[in-house]
Amino acid sequence: MTESPIAVFDKLTRVDPPERTPVLFDTACVLGGSIAGLLAARVLADHARTVLIIERDQVNVEGRPRAGVPQDHQGHGLLPGGLAQIERWLPGFTREAQDAGGVLVGPDQQVVYLDGNQQVRGGEAQILMGSRPFLESRLRRRVLALPNVSTLSAQATGLEYHDGAVSAVRYLADGVEDVTSVDFVVDAMGRASRLSEWVERTGYDRPRLQRLRTGINYATALFARSDMPEDLELACALAQFSPPSSPDGLAVGAVNAVEGEQWLVMLMAYGDNQSSSSIEAFRSTCAKMPPIFGEAVSGAVTREILTYHQGDSRRRDFTGLSNFPARLVSVGDAVASFNPVYGQGISSAALHASCLSQYLIGDPAFGLPAAEFFAVQEVVVDAAWTISAGGDAARLDAIEGAEVRDDVQRQRWAMDQLIRATLVDETVADAFSAVAFMLAHPFSLGDPALVERAVAANQRASGLA
Ligand SMILES: Cc1cc2nc3c(=O)[nH]c(=O)nc-3n(C[C@H](O)[C@H](O)[C@H](O)COP(=O)(O)OP(=O)(O)OC[C@H]3O[C@@H](n4cnc5c(N)ncnc54)[C@H](O)[C@@H]3O)c2cc1C
Repeated sequence: MTESPIAVFDKLTRVDPPERTPVLFDTACVLGGSIAGLLAARVLADHARTVLIIERDQVNVEGRPRAGVPQDHQGHGLLPGGLAQIERWLPGFTREAQDAGGVLVGPDQQVVYLDGNQQVRGGEAQILMGSRPFLESRLRRRVLALPNVSTLSAQATGLEYHDGAVSAVRYLADGVEDVTSVDFVVDAMGRASRLSEWVERTGYDRPRLQRLRTGINYATALFARSDMPEDLELACALAQFSPPSSPDGLAVGAVNAVEGEQWLVMLMAYGDNQSSSSIEAFRSTCAKMPPIFGEAVSGAVTREILTYHQGDSRRRDFTGLSNFPARLVSVGDAVASFNPVYGQGISSAALHASCLSQYLIGDPAFGLPAAEFFAVQEVVVDAAWTISAGGDAARLDAIEGAEVRDDVQRQRWAMDQLIRATLVDETVADAFSAVAFMLAHPFSLGDPALVERAVAANQRASGLA
């Protein structure tokens, strides 16, 4: 790939429909029918006569929580980068979600606090808020309405191969093993995907797994909200804290207006710090935060606190595998699952779907591993990983007093300058939020002129210039 990551990312974030949609397969099969699987199925519907989604949970279009997605009780927002791609693949999705109670949060209704200080509002982009089961069910409704997409309630158990390419999927349905012939397979089985074991067992290369310790403790509860979305001064707030300013050891809190006239309130702490597990403690912590938090938890509890722990961020590297099955790709959390506090998972999955489209219209050689797909997808994974893992690595190094290479120290210093300048400089806030919203690649923040601007703005703000 000769293009720069910024150029590749820019191309992927376009929102026009693909210029052509050749039918390439008789049957394409998606393993895992959650967000990444549904979006991949939507793209494949343009290129296959039949798309079969194999999902082990009994999925429902009503949007009830389910076992296969243990994180679905926690706060989820849909960033502008992902929303634009979903709108690209499913036009009208946003309007339909709003009609069903989802809340589209405009730039004036969202705010980010850093240690209690409010960031300058950056950009014009809108965020879609709804609970995770709500967002997923809206997607499922649209994708399963496509005439050539269907779901099979079954657990995928392995793959079969012919001439170095995937040729069939094995699955277990109602206790009975079966197999179905396929022309192309997408692994969307989430962060615990067994694909690596499956391919290794048959003699193919196993993608390298990289893990970064995060130790996040989430707690999310829902509260009644009396105001309609359009009447809300703020509909979405994110508050980040660093010691010693953290109330009760908290690292991040979020308040989102969601469907059913509710506030979803999420509190997150790292490591040994536990986020509140009783409503009294939850309310007491929120009272120490910006006023919107106290206001949101003052209503009746509509769903008690549910907690979630995630030990690590992880990514699997599919690039450069010389001995990997053809006609097989992986998307969503199965490829990379990040510190969720950055809210990048759904947007990454949506961009992976766009990578799949780009690959399929590029006349790839289906007898070879999908190297072109994995190369473009890596740009998206790197973009999200740079933001989330970069922050986590800096936090861990500070806690452990680790020795840090000079170049990494310089990058962290520049990022720190940019983040501080989002409190005082609109241009920096715009550039930063475009990256945080997955509308631009993080390398765009490396522009020396932007860093200089941030340094000057910080000096002015602290009275040094
Ligand atoms: C606490 C938390 C908060 C988050 N907040 C946000 C947020 O605010 N914004 C955001 O964009 N992202 C957020 N995320 C990330 C987001 O949840 C995921 O990135 C997103 O759901 C992508 O999911 P996926 O489809 O790749 O995998 P998953 O949603 O994990 O789905 C995997 C699917 O595969 C199925 N499956 C697994 N194995 C098999 C098998 N053998 N056979 C058949 N089916 C199988 C499972 O049942 C499941 O349906 C958050 C994550 C966490 C943990």
